[in-house]
Amino acid sequence: MKNVGIVLAAGSSTRMGGTTKKQYRVLLGHPVLFYSLKAFEQSYVSDIIIVCSEGEEEFVQKEIVEKYDIMKVSAVIPGASERSGSSFLGIKEAIRIRGREGVNVLIHDAARPLVNPELINNIISDLEFGQRAVVPAVTPSDTIRIEGEGGIVTLEREKIRMIQTPQGFEAGLIHDAYANLKDTVTDDAEVVMKYDSKVRIAFTEGDRRNFKLTYPTDFELAESLVRSARSLY
Ligand code: C5P
Repeated sequence: MKNVGIVLAAGSSTRMGGTTKKQYRVLLGHPVLFYSLKAFEQSYVSDIIIVCSEGEEEFVQKEIVEKYDIMKVSAVIPGASERSGSSFLGIKEAIRIRGREGVNVLIHDAARPLVNPELINNIISDLEFGQRAVVPAVTPSDTIRIEGEGGIVTLEREKIRMIQTPQGFEAGLIHDAYANLKDTVTDDAEVVMKYDSKVRIAFTEGDRRNFKLTYPTDFELAESLVRSARSLY
């Protein structure tokens, strides 16, 4: 079986603000994108595809892939204006280079630099043992409340899952799910659920450190986590 990592880095970082996009911002000496590439490089994936904004391919290739000697990168391709479009382009590229049969894809947000090879390998192992779709998840530590017109509802924390990436899928399944998608979504597994509700979406234990850099203060937390895992980098 082949497992292809797809690292999505074509976002515009609107919520983060600042002049440098979050995926290229320097986090303790290295660009954010480098950290996920390193984790995929050290995992069992056979290939890595990077999806970046159009016009940034050369920068990513020279300043990140070549500079840090990330050997498994097979392609650096331009993405789309929505995350779902970038995902689909990455999936099509994975199928172009490795085919559909016996191929899995693991789709990851470059904005989650604290992913580690063990989590990636756990997902690969679940896929290789027959799961068709696997997502890492953690339970929230905060109470979550929905305020609607009908009043306030407090949700049961134990029943809530915060979904992370990488999410792993059979290449053919996620390809066909995206090919049938009518709207835009921000989560790859949801595309599969909309396509075929009978497909089981398996959970694997996520990692609380694997959070998504979204707001400026998230960088402080990521820096301290990278510092404590320094031996890895
Ligand atoms: O915007 P958000 O942080 O949720 O994006 C998640 C990931 O998807 C980021 O790593 C971002 O670079 C990527 N993305 C993309 N193409 C888009 C939008 C987001 O590759 N059009």
